[in-house]
Amino acid sequence: MIRLTNIQLPLDHDDQAIANAVVARLSIKAADLVSYHVHRRGYDARKKANIVLIYTLDVETKNNKALLEKFADEQLIKATPDMSYKFVAQAPVDLQERPVVIGFGPCGLLTGLVLAQMGYKPIILDRGKEVRERTKDTFGFWRKKILNTESNVQFGEGGAGTFSDGKLYSQVKDPHHYGRKVLTEFVEAGAPDEIMFVSKPHIGTFRLVSMVEKMRAKIIELGGEIRFSARVDDVQIEAGQITGVALADGEVIKSKHIALAIGHSARDTFEMLYDKNVYIEAKPFSVGFRIEHQQSLIDEARFGANAGNEILGAADYKLVHHCKGGRSVYSFCMCPGGTVVAATSEEHRVVTNGMSQYSRAERNANSAIVVGIDPTDYPGGPLAGIDFQRELESNAYLLGGENYDAPAQKVGDFLKGVSSETIGSVEPSFKPGIKLTDLSKALPDFCIEAIREAIPAFNRKINGFALEDALLTGVETRTSAPICIKRGKDFQSINTQGLFPAGEGAGYAGGIMSAAIDGIKVAEAMALSINHSNK
Ligand code: FAD
Repeated sequence: MIRLTNIQLPLDHDDQAIANAVVARLSIKAADLVSYHVHRRGYDARKKANIVLIYTLDVETKNNKALLEKFADEQLIKATPDMSYKFVAQAPVDLQERPVVIGFGPCGLLTGLVLAQMGYKPIILDRGKEVRERTKDTFGFWRKKILNTESNVQFGEGGAGTFSDGKLYSQVKDPHHYGRKVLTEFVEAGAPDEIMFVSKPHIGTFRLVSMVEKMRAKIIELGGEIRFSARVDDVQIEAGQITGVALADGEVIKSKHIALAIGHSARDTFEMLYDKNVYIEAKPFSVGFRIEHQQSLIDEARFGANAGNEILGAADYKLVHHCKGGRSVYSFCMCPGGTVVAATSEEHRVVTNGMSQYSRAERNANSAIVVGIDPTDYPGGPLAGIDFQRELESNAYLLGGENYDAPAQKVGDFLKGVSSETIGSVEPSFKPGIKLTDLSKALPDFCIEAIREAIPAFNRKINGFALEDALLTGVETRTSAPICIKRGKDFQSINTQGLFPAGEGAGYAGGIMSAAIDGIKVAEAMALSINHSNK
């Protein structure tokens, strides 16, 4: 097939317009166009009055070969690449030992699935519960403030992104099209087909829940085993080689190939690994607040008269401001038509995050507005970032009234430096609830200063962003892991052979898609290593 890139059409184009554009671009007769397939559809909304859809199309014509020769110098007309996934290995028939995957978030899910598909029958361990039970615990916390520290928004089947907006895009380089493999698996598990072609796919919370169950069933069908409420409390290492893990109940599982896909919130596990001398470094991350506006304000600011258009959906945004003092403030994990949620996994701490349903139909838009920080801001060794996060989260718990309500403040008051007394037109969506206060006490002064500088700058890009009544809720601390569990080119820990640090918790991903892609890479590296040692 021929891949045509950057075909631009008006937002309201009719069905025939795509075929017409193909014919025009290739200068062929309409009768020579056999078929076309939309590979990708995005939009350019920089000019609100003239929003255009941008297509990448795979086209079949009666004379592909001749056309590819004719347009050989054209960057936007090329042969469609083969994006299908190819397994790098197959398990030996006399497989001597099953690989273990710790963590069943997007990373562990894909590591486990790809290992299972190659015949390695992985044993997958997650400290949390299976997703339906976990849903009850998580929603229970939001409604009744009863936290289960092992089954919550961070821990359990599906990992941290299960109760989320389910955004599935990532900026990681993906020359081997692993992202395609992830999307294909998600669609087979029940995600909408459109995730294969829209430029910013999302799934929303409830669909993710049933998808995760289907993917679990597939792994089990292929000979894999998945154990819940199976927290790894210890790793066994002999002469620099991992040999097994010990679970919280004392059971030991032996394996010399163990993927560590534990996410960014497994602080106790990070501490255990550090105590066991697994090499860990501190790494930069970000902290800040969630901001909420009415979704209609964002739609209007981004799409003008086209607000509400079905193809465009609820508008999102992505903002960055480089402060005079050198700090960067940026929007993160924007959830159109969603809610702000309590995301702690530890008692007496408050952490914010965002989620939405597939429809993105809730009244408010939310995103994290965060300041980039690095280990010089929290000196004290590889795990100092965790202490820093904990301190901010405990402080937020105090500011929120010590009952898991989150501290909040109207943007106008935050900018003026006065405590908020009343809610304005933007109603808080945070569950379980908020307490109005002065958020300048919630983060270090340099963060507050940076956010105070950034919000008016963002207002110049999204009219109304600095609205008096817009609401800030805090604190957003779990933006990524504050550590990196260093691995080499073979994907193994640089000082612990057979341990494969993976995904967001190890510092190699940020978000569902990049964690899942990393999971595939790690599965491949494990398979090759197992085959090597099985010889
Ligand atoms: P995780 O998903 O964190 O999974 C780690 C798993 O390991 C967990 O299930 C945990 O129970 C388990 N585990 C931890 N320690 C142990 C142990 N000792 N023993 C056994 N098991 C253990 N990203 C997006 O791209 N789009 C979004 O829309 C989005 N929204 C989000 C909304 C919320 C509320 C949250 C919290 C996150 C969101 N994210 C989103 C981020 C995304 O969820 C993460 O980047 C992603 O889940 C990381 O995947 P992971 O597999 O590396 O780790």
